[in-house]
Amino acid sequence: MIAQLRLLRLPRTARAYCELDHWSFDPRYTNGRCPICGWEAPGAPSAPAWLMVARRVDWQLFGLLALAILLVVIGLIVAQAAGFHAPAAHFSPSGIASGARTASGVR
Ligand SMILES: [Zn+2]
Repeated sequence: MIAQLRLLRLPRTARAYCELDHWSFDPRYTNGRCPICGWEAPGAPSAPAWLMVARRVDWQLFGLLALAILLVVIGLIVAQAAGFHAPAAHFSPSGIASGARTASGVR
């Protein structure tokens, strides 16, 4: 009985026919356009603009980038917990480039 009610509620699929290609297609799955030549079927439903933009974005690359950032953050946390510090450059406090040459005075 439930299956019969669902069948009654579903709208009939309107297939479009491209006369150029002699191809019948369902415009719901092709965004209202012919999959071969791109002809736009009249009265066919089309997706909103934000959905078209979201479909073009490669979300797997964003996931990969987020995973890389997460791994770097976890690595920094582990390095700090283990007591590792990056070697810092030593600068002479007097401003002289090399303290060792001036201290001896002789090569
Ligand atoms: Zn076509």
